[in-house]
Amino acid sequence: MPTPFARLVARVQACRACPRMEGRARVLGPANGRVPAAVLFVAEAPGRLGADRCGVPLAGDQTGRAFATLLRAAGLDRAAVFVTNAVLCNPRDARGRNARPTAAEIANCTAHLRATLEAVRPRYVAALGQVALAALARVAPHGAVLARDVGRPLPWHGGWLVPLYHPGPRARIHRPLARQLDDFRRLGQLVAPRRCRVRGRALGAPQRDRAAPVRDAVAGGASSSSGWSTAT
Ligand code: SF4
Repeated sequence: MPTPFARLVARVQACRACPRMEGRARVLGPANGRVPAAVLFVAEAPGRLGADRCGVPLAGDQTGRAFATLLRAAGLDRAAVFVTNAVLCNPRDARGRNARPTAAEIANCTAHLRATLEAVRPRYVAALGQVALAALARVAPHGAVLARDVGRPLPWHGGWLVPLYHPGPRARIHRPLARQLDDFRRLGQLVAPRRCRVRGRALGAPQRDRAAPVRDAVAGGASSSSGWSTAT
């Protein structure tokens, strides 16, 4: 009996909703990460030289190398998290370069993103950039503003939404690497606060009213109390 995630992967591999994506890889499968996982990252789209070639999101190109550095700063093991994109295929412009996904393509892929969240059931959803935040707002409204809320855990859809900047070179204009490293360290402390305790106090832990879900996450990992239904 196929799992809900396996059924989702089969639907995605057969998806032909976006004409511009013909001939591109559908980047969703076991290589995206652990199912279930306590932490799920959502980026923008597979890259031409990265995920579209190697089938692994945020891997195989400059952006992938930056993401690996940021994950290390957070103390997170790639094998323990799940990584996906707002759109699951690589959008390109007329000259064959990486392009931003259109609003219609993001809308077409929203059902896949929603089903991914339901299958992975993360406690923390880290949105990497504006496009990811916009795509997640289509799943459930959140009101987050990247420049204002970067690194802050916001209650969202039964778990926590953490807005972060995209690891690609374009985002460095708005958030230098040193600041992004701090953001990811903060995420790591949030996800596993016990590693960072000083005299019993967790560094970087959410405010008092936000402490209970963090304790639950440490105690239970990606527990079924995250609020995601298991139906797809
Ligand atoms: S981007 Fe998403 S909706 Fe569009 S063809 Fe690819 S899988 Fe389907």
